[in-house]
Amino acid sequence: MSGIARNYVLKFIITGDAAVGKSSLLIRLTDQRFLANPDPTLGVEFGSKLITIPEDEKVVKLQCWDTAGTESFRAITRSYYRGAAGCLLVYDVTSRKSFLNARNWLKDVREHADPNLTCILVGNKVDLCEDSGDAANNPIRTREVPREEGEAWAREEGLLFVEASAKSGQNVELAFIEASRDILNKIKRGV
Ligand code: GDP
Repeated sequence: MSGIARNYVLKFIITGDAAVGKSSLLIRLTDQRFLANPDPTLGVEFGSKLITIPEDEKVVKLQCWDTAGTESFRAITRSYYRGAAGCLLVYDVTSRKSFLNARNWLKDVREHADPNLTCILVGNKVDLCEDSGDAANNPIRTREVPREEGEAWAREEGLLFVEASAKSGQNVELAFIEASRDILNKIKRGV
């Protein structure tokens, strides 16, 4: 971690099932855009962004790798765990299956990533839910994963947690800031 501490360049990976919105979160973070019909993720995409950690007044350069969600790409994505300080583990709040599969992705992360890696569980697509402020403008879909359930599982596994929307931008930067803050705290403590 010492090289990371000197330069404040943090490598992040974004993982989770196909179609949960990994590419969209990355595009939202780096480009402030949302594509309703993005190209399906065919491999790995990369994005870079400078963020400021408010109370630390630290500027951190995020280097984010978006890993494909399908089984067939797993072998390729393995090498991308190497050197990662942070991970966004993404599910879709309107897909219970994607939430259940997050367990497998976490297993994969734990098997291949640095044990000190900071992982934030991101429940994406909250804009589609009836209880979301933006839902009036969207075809409403049923929330299949209550916020409390995501939160509880994250706590159990020692993950940070946030619900977000790549479409509205809600909490997207916050997810990266929360994770980066945790990583910097670990660096300060010499973990
Ligand atoms: P990936 O396969 O995990 O990278 O998922 P994509 O980023 O390709 O997104 C899959 C589909 O979900 C696309 O049609 C996106 O436009 C849509 N999508 C992604 N994030 C959101 C979101 O926050 N809200 C809504 N309503 N749709 C989203």
